[in-house]
Formats: sequence, C-alpha cells, structure tokens
Amino acid sequence: MPIIKVKPGEKIRLNKIDADDTGQFHNKQEAIALLAKNIRRMAELQNVLYADGGQSLLIVLQAMDAGGKDGTIRKIMSGVNPQGVRVTSFKKPTEEELSHDFLWRVHKAAPARGMIGIFNRSHYEDVLVVRVHNLVPKKVWQKRYDHINHFEKLLTDNGVTVLKFYLHISKEEQAERLQERLDRPEKNWKFNPGDLKERALWDDYMEAFEVAFEKCSPKNAPWYIVPANKKWYRNLVISEKIVEALEKMNLKYPEPAEGLDNIVIE
Ligand code: AMP
Ligand code: MG
Repeated sequence: MPIIKVKPGEKIRLNKIDADDTGQFHNKQEAIALLAKNIRRMAELQNVLYADGGQSLLIVLQAMDAGGKDGTIRKIMSGVNPQGVRVTSFKKPTEEELSHDFLWRVHKAAPARGMIGIFNRSHYEDVLVVRVHNLVPKKVWQKRYDHINHFEKLLTDNGVTVLKFYLHISKEEQAERLQERLDRPEKNWKFNPGDLKERALWDDYMEAFEVAFEKCSPKNAPWYIVPANKKWYRNLVISEKIVEALEKMNLKYPEPAEGLDNIVIE
C-alpha cells in the first residue's frame, strides 16, 4: 500500500505524492469489507489493551483544513469502547497554555496506560501554524523539533506506541470540501473564513510539513503520509496501521486470580 513511512531524515516532496492514490484498490466496494474487519479487530485489541493496562497508543492526526481529521476519528473509532479512548482537539492555545512551554498542554493529554489517545492536531501545530505565521521568533520554534523528538522518545520509552498520520489532500480537493461547507446547510457550521487565509499560504504549509517530517521521523515515532483525497482509502490504510501497531504490542489479558475454579456463585 502506498502509505509512506518517512525514514529518519528523509526529505519528502509532498507535491510529488498523489493524494488520489488508492493503492491496489479500484473502488470503495472493494475496501469496505476490509475496513469493517479492521474496525472489529481494533475493538478486540482495545479490550486487551485496556485489560493488560501496561501500554498505550497515541494516534496523532495532522492535515490541512478540511483534510479529514474529524471524519477519520468518527469512522475509525466507531467500533471501540468509548471508555478506553480519549480524543483531544488542540485549538489556539489559551492564555494559560501560552504561559507555559508548548508541550505542557500536550503532555497532560498523553494516553494513560491501557488507553488509546487521539490528537486532533497536536504539538506539531507549534512548528506548522506557528512557523508559517512566525507566532514566536524563529530561534524559538527552531528548537522545537528537538524538543518534540525528546518528548516522543520519553513517551515511547514509557510504553506509548506513537502513530503519526498526515492526511494528504490536494489543494483542489480542499477547494471542493470547503465549497461543500458553504453549500450544505448541515456543514455550514464548519466553514471558517479564516481557513481561506490559511489556504492562501498552502505552499508555506507544505514546506513546514516537509521539514517536520524530515526532522521528526525517528525510528520510534515515524510519520506516515496517507493519500487522503479518497476517504474510504484513507480510513482503510489508517485502520490497517492501527491494527498492526496493536498486534505488535503483544497484549495479554492478565492472569486470572488463583482459585477462580473453586468459586461457586450461589
Ligand atoms: P479546528 O481544528 O478547525 O478547530 O481549528 C483549530 C485552530 O487552532 C487551527 O487554526 C489551528 O491552526 C489552531 N491551533 C492549534 N494549535 C495551535 C498552536 N499551538 N498555535 C497556534 N494555533 C494553533
Ligand atoms: Mg477548522
């Protein structure tokens, strides 16, 4: 599958990656049964993750506006037990958050043992929007790539599997999706005129993403670039990676307490 796993230090050219790619699949029908199977498998594995209580999974989602972060969460997590998942959406930092280091709010949201944590946007905003708009001086954001690598190493050293997905849509696809937000009453609420300002900075964002992928794809926490124009394909490849990651954790139900065999419930 042409989902791209970025190698440490690898330079990615996003405009060379086809956002319409659907790998070996030709249409939604072919993928639908596989996605359903992955969603069921994820539910089973999450149950063991929770019972095992020793490790956790962090899923980081980044994309341009209308890139499909919300839709991915809705679809992929449709089978899991809500008790074992925590979604955190990172917005513009509050005054309080700004009065701390940039990872303060992020670390608090990291998943506890046994949990799946999902970041809808993340600490990467601090080298994306912040870099594009110079919200802090260059000498401050430049150091953040190292800070991020250290932070993610701390997480993985502590039993957190970190999966980072960039949902790669084309600029044309973004235009269509933003237009849909204008056209469909039930989507109007999602339209944010500010998104058009960010859209005008598309190339700057692409560059910022490329630098983040290059600098922050160590072996313990690589970026995955997901062709995401086709939602069904995006969902399928992400669910595939999540199942794979959970399988790799080698999770086990805890040993039953001794003497369970002899207990009689009257
Ligand atoms: P949305 O995801 O549509 O709710 O929008 C959230 C907004 O918050 C986006 O415009 C992000 O770029 C912005 N945002 C998130 N994190 C940060 C950050 N650390 N600094 C500045 N803006 C941020
Ligand atoms: Mg938005």
